[in-house]
Amino acid sequence: MRFAEIIGNEALKDALVRMARSGRLGHALLLTEENGGGAFALALALAQFVNCREPQENDSCGVCGSCHKYGKLIHPDLHFVFPVSASTALSESEKKGPISDYFLPAFRELALANPYFTEQQLYDAIGIENKSGLISVNEAKRIAEKLLLRAAEGTWKTMIIYLPEKMNAEAANKLLKLLEEPPQGTLFLLISHNPERLLPTIRSRCQPIAVQPLSRAERQRAGAGENDNAEFREIAISLLEAGLAKRLIDLFPQWEMLADLGREKQREWCLYMERYLRKILLVSQGLADLADPAPEEEATLRGFAAKIRPTFYEKAFAALEEAIASIGSNVNPKLVFCDLSNRLLLAL
Ligand SMILES: [Zn+2]
Repeated sequence: MRFAEIIGNEALKDALVRMARSGRLGHALLLTEENGGGAFALALALAQFVNCREPQENDSCGVCGSCHKYGKLIHPDLHFVFPVSASTALSESEKKGPISDYFLPAFRELALANPYFTEQQLYDAIGIENKSGLISVNEAKRIAEKLLLRAAEGTWKTMIIYLPEKMNAEAANKLLKLLEEPPQGTLFLLISHNPERLLPTIRSRCQPIAVQPLSRAERQRAGAGENDNAEFREIAISLLEAGLAKRLIDLFPQWEMLADLGREKQREWCLYMERYLRKILLVSQGLADLADPAPEEEATLRGFAAKIRPTFYEKAFAALEEAIASIGSNVNPKLVFCDLSNRLLLAL
């Protein structure tokens, strides 16, 4: 992928090119994005640029042998790591320690068709859907093994790690060792949605790069997956309506629906709800442009903005963060969502 093919983040593209050309590119970059924000496309374009045999002023050539293989995601020095889980498509022995390599064909297909993919689109594509994806210590060992090999062709061995916050403690410690003493000629490109969940020692080893969220218009131009989820939005709206009307009984179907989703989707919904509340907050402050609502969504947001009191937001964000933590530590989901909806109702 060339930088020219990427929609949005123009200033960031320029900065990455300048860093690469002037030799100021660190051996590890931590790109943070909003889910589906295109950090993967940027990481790929950067890796293709630094490995290009005939680079142009601001971009890779797109036609040399290296670019050609990068374009198909089959360059031998380009490695991908992403959260996985035991899917039914794996063999019995593979299920015992699933790693990204087992899912590479499906991953390539997704990334080539839509480099702006969301976390959920990844899980759907590799067939683990409702399960929580993880990066295990097996995977971390594979990373170390791959990076011990000399670069087969390129200048750099590129290791793109999508959602390193999905590593368990053992895997994260192995990654930390690699970042502390990086194998020669290795470029680590980490893409995170929640950098605060990474080990501080990992964060401090990486150059932080903030990828700006795409506007609605940019998302459409990029053909990116719609990052608004109709089912999630419906639950959010019903919860707020029932809460504002103080109708406890009307909250039950919503939290039961949430309790029946898989853990990964429950977490996703909480993050969705946070974003949705942020939009209402922006609208209530007269900043509708920043909320960037879809035309059909604006009236609903304005309705909530008029009815919700200013003290609600802080309490709601705290309740949602606690719910996310409880989901992560395996608390019974019925309890989590019963508690969450009660707290939202009381705060409204
Ligand atoms: Zn090239």
